[in-house]
Formats: sequence, structure tokens, C-alpha cells
Amino acid sequence: MEKKNIFMRIQEMESQLGHMNSELGELKQIVKELLEDNHRLSLENEQLRKVLKREVQPADHKPSTSRKQPSPIPMQGSGEDLVGEGYDNLARLYHEGFHICNVYYGHLRTEGDCLFCLSFLNK
Ligand SMILES: [Zn+2]
Repeated sequence: MEKKNIFMRIQEMESQLGHMNSELGELKQIVKELLEDNHRLSLENEQLRKVLKREVQPADHKPSTSRKQPSPIPMQGSGEDLVGEGYDNLARLYHEGFHICNVYYGHLRTEGDCLFCLSFLNK
């Protein structure tokens, strides 16, 4: 009677341990994903800070030379300069490692070139 009881309890514990073990596995997976997210976001943050710093500094330190390439008196009302500038900004952003495609816009590129971005740049 006593013995049987003990075996039953051991079996119970065994199944509980199995359950806990699988739960532990799930938690480990979640932690792993969080760490990866954290790493990716840190990189992204670092890159964005660099970009931000570069965007802000020229205006502060060399206001007169910040516009290095003044287009020879742009024609009034032609939106072409703005479009060109926007394109340059996007191209630069892409080369700094960010997505500019509408699929992943603003996210850090972690796997080399992005076909969506490239097709966008080649338009
Ligand atoms: Zn992309």
C-alpha cells in the first residue's frame, strides 16, 4: 500500500517534470527571440543616431556651406529638385543599411540587399 503510493507519486512527479521541461523550452525560445529583437533594435537605434547626428550637425556648424550643390537657379514651380532630393535621401538611407521599400521601410537591413528596395531604387 505504502509502496504503491510512493510509485504513484514518483510517476506524478515525473510527468510534472516533463511538463515543466517543455515549458522551460518554450520560455527559452521566447527569451532567445527577445534577445534577437533587442540586438536588432540596438543596431537600428545606433544607425539611426548616426544618421540623425549627421543630419543635425551641418546645419549647426557650417550653415553657409551646407547647401553644397545649389542647382543653378531652379525654375519656379518645377518640382523636379524636390523629387531628386527625396530620391537622394532614400538612396543614402538605403546605403546606410535601412530599408526604403514599403514592405520594411525604416527597418535595418540585416540580410544584405533587399530586392524590394533595389527595384524601388531602379525605378
Ligand atoms: Zn527593403
